[in-house]
Amino acid sequence: MIIPPLTSSSCMPKIDLHSHSTISDGSYTPAELVNYAAAQGVDVMALTDHDDVAGLEQARAVAGSLGVSLINGVEISVTWNKRTIHIVGLRIDPDHPELLAGLEAIRAGRLTRAEAIAAELGKAGIAGSLEGSLAYARERIISRTHFARFLVAQGHARDVKTVFKKFLVKGKPGHVPHQWAEMGEAIGWIRNSGGVAVLAHPGRYDMGKTTLHGLFAAFKEAGGEAVEVVSGSHTADQYRIFAEYAQLYELQASAGSDYHGPTHNYFDMGRLPPLPSGCVPVWQGWPELGRFGPQFETQRSSV
Ligand code: AMP
Ligand code: MN
Ligand code: MN
Ligand code: MN
Repeated sequence: MIIPPLTSSSCMPKIDLHSHSTISDGSYTPAELVNYAAAQGVDVMALTDHDDVAGLEQARAVAGSLGVSLINGVEISVTWNKRTIHIVGLRIDPDHPELLAGLEAIRAGRLTRAEAIAAELGKAGIAGSLEGSLAYARERIISRTHFARFLVAQGHARDVKTVFKKFLVKGKPGHVPHQWAEMGEAIGWIRNSGGVAVLAHPGRYDMGKTTLHGLFAAFKEAGGEAVEVVSGSHTADQYRIFAEYAQLYELQASAGSDYHGPTHNYFDMGRLPPLPSGCVPVWQGWPELGRFGPQFETQRSSV
C-alpha cells in the first residue's frame, strides 16, 4: 500500500474559536451552527455564547458525526475601567458550579438592564420594547441585539448595524450604562473550570494606545493567557498590531469569526486567514487537534 505523504496543506485544520447561537444573540440554533460550520469546512470550532453555556450540549450532540471538534466556550461580559470588555473562555468545564453561578448572575443583570433600556426607549417615544425584544430572545439571554431586531422590525432603523449608530449606544436613546462582572472574577471562573481566558477582539474597544496597554497589562496581571489576534472584528492591519501586543505581553494568539448568523454584519465561518507568523497559537498542544498530526503540539507559527 502506498501512503501519500502528508503535505502541510493537507493537514491544515480550519479553526474558528468564536461563534454565537440562539442561546445568546446568534441566529442559528447550536445544532444548526455546527452544521453550518461543517459545511464551511471548519474542523475545530468553539461555541462562545454571551454569558451562557447552555448550547454546548446540543452542539456536542451533532459535532462528532459531522467531523467537527467542538471546543467548550463562553464569552463573558466584563466591566473594566468603566468600559465593557469581552473575555472568551476556551476549554471551560460547562458544569463547573462557580462558572455557572457567575454566568447566572450576569444573565439576571441583563434582564434588569433590559427593563432600564425599555424605560429609556419609552422616554424617546418607543413603547413596548421590553416585550417586543423579549419576543426575539430565544433562550435565557436578552441582549441589545434583540432590541436592535425589534427596532428594525418597528421601522426605527434600516438594519441592525444602523440601530447601533442611532440607538442603544452612549449619547443615544436607549443607552443604559451597566456593571458587568469584574475582569478578575471572570478570568477566575474560566481558569478554575480548567479553561483558558482570551481577551476578545481588542480592536473593537475604541481605546487610545495608553488605555489599550492598560487593558492588556490588567488582563495579563489577572491571569489572562491569550488574545484574539485574528478576529472577524479586526482589519488586516489589526491582525499585525495585535500579534505585536501578543508578543509584548507574552500572550498566546486566538482566531475567531464572531459569527452570529447570515443576517448579521459579521465575518463568515471558515474564512479566517492564518495567524501572523511568530504567534503562539492558543490551540498548541490541545488534544482536540491531535488528529491533525503531532506538529500541532509544537508548532509556533500559524495554521
Ligand atoms: P449586549 O451584550 O447585550 O450589550 O449586546 C452586545 C451585542 O450587540 C454584541 O455582541 C453584538 O452582537 C451586537 N452589536 C454591538 N455593536 C454592534 C454593531 N455595531 N453592529 C451589529 N451588532 C452589534
Ligand atoms: Mn453578540
Ligand atoms: Mn464580543
Ligand atoms: Mn462574540
